[in-house]
Amino acid sequence: MPLPTTFFCDLAVAGVQALQPYQPGKPIEELQREYGVTDIVKLASNENPLGPSPKALAAARETFAELHRYPDGNGFALRQALAAHHDVDPLSITLGSGSNDLLEMVARAFLGPGREAVFSKHAFAIYAIASQAVGATPVAAPANPREHAQPFGHDLDAMRAAITADTRVVFIANPNNPTGTWLAAEELERFFDSVPRDVIIVLDEAYVEYAEAAPGYREGSAWVARYPNLVVTRTFSKAQGLAGLRVGYGLSHPQVADLLNRVRMPFNVSIPAQAAAVAALADAEHVQASVRLNREEMQRLQAQLEGLGLRWLPSAGNFLCVEVGPRAADVYEGLLRRGVIVRPVGGGYGLPTFLRMSIGLQRENGRLLQALGELREQGLLQVA
Ligand SMILES: *Cc1c(COP(=O)(O)O)cnc(C)c1O
Repeated sequence: MPLPTTFFCDLAVAGVQALQPYQPGKPIEELQREYGVTDIVKLASNENPLGPSPKALAAARETFAELHRYPDGNGFALRQALAAHHDVDPLSITLGSGSNDLLEMVARAFLGPGREAVFSKHAFAIYAIASQAVGATPVAAPANPREHAQPFGHDLDAMRAAITADTRVVFIANPNNPTGTWLAAEELERFFDSVPRDVIIVLDEAYVEYAEAAPGYREGSAWVARYPNLVVTRTFSKAQGLAGLRVGYGLSHPQVADLLNRVRMPFNVSIPAQAAAVAALADAEHVQASVRLNREEMQRLQAQLEGLGLRWLPSAGNFLCVEVGPRAADVYEGLLRRGVIVRPVGGGYGLPTFLRMSIGLQRENGRLLQALGELREQGLLQVA
């Protein structure tokens, strides 16, 4: 007898039944396959257009002869390097297969049925997914209004108000993806002071390197000593250009790190990833060059978008959330047909008139601009 079409769905735990899978930026190969387009520019996943440090690549390559071995499950060398880099105890570091892995570890260690996770509307989609997957209740606090200096960004007062006796985790992205908005150090400190100590605060700093010049911004590693309920997450996927290797980490109180390490899968960070991360950490020049390129290209792109009559949200990241108007889906499609992949942020992100565009190389941003110009000619863009 054939199975009813919902047979396995009904078997899944309740949180998983209700999950919408994460929608990643469209891969280059998929666009090639589906549209037959070549010479594709991908500005959809906030990757570093310069690629990784050549030293990180060389370090990864040198490990290839030992790939029949398991990695060091404790990641000794990388944790030592990170501890020195941040001037913290190695026991306060938890390694992840990307920082997404950390978000999931926090959810598995601290969330579950009957518990709540608070995050901001228009924040990174993984917060809701990781919480729901373990049966917890995701609570999206209202975001800043459009007129705010940080439009659609985190409203920390609203987030504080959303915390109940059942809240165990609060997720904050600073800067936030997909909006690009950021929080000043003083408002974060006020928030940390106001949150009960039995609520874990995750401060997701995936874009920290790009944000350091943003007014009021301060990176959060020093707060870990002051707020034992704080977990700062970092990644090698963005400014270090190692998204494909999957390596990130958390900084926290050693007791929290111990709990995270209990739910961490053994060998979650591969041998090449550990080696590349150690080398990337030592190559500050590459990060500086990446940040400089981002700043220069962001300014150029903004001037050109303004020329097209477009508006965008303030950004402390390596991307811009650009308002293209009610036909954003057609604009996205039109860009795909011209070989340019950007990121829709309607659906799960609740910003249906916007598209998120990563800052690429000058040539890549030029392709984006040219394509947007053509779509404007077709009347698809809502311009000021
Ligand atoms: C890109 C991104 C990450 C990084 O994910 P990895 O798993 O480290 O590749 C984390 N948080 C936010 C908000 C991001 O945009």
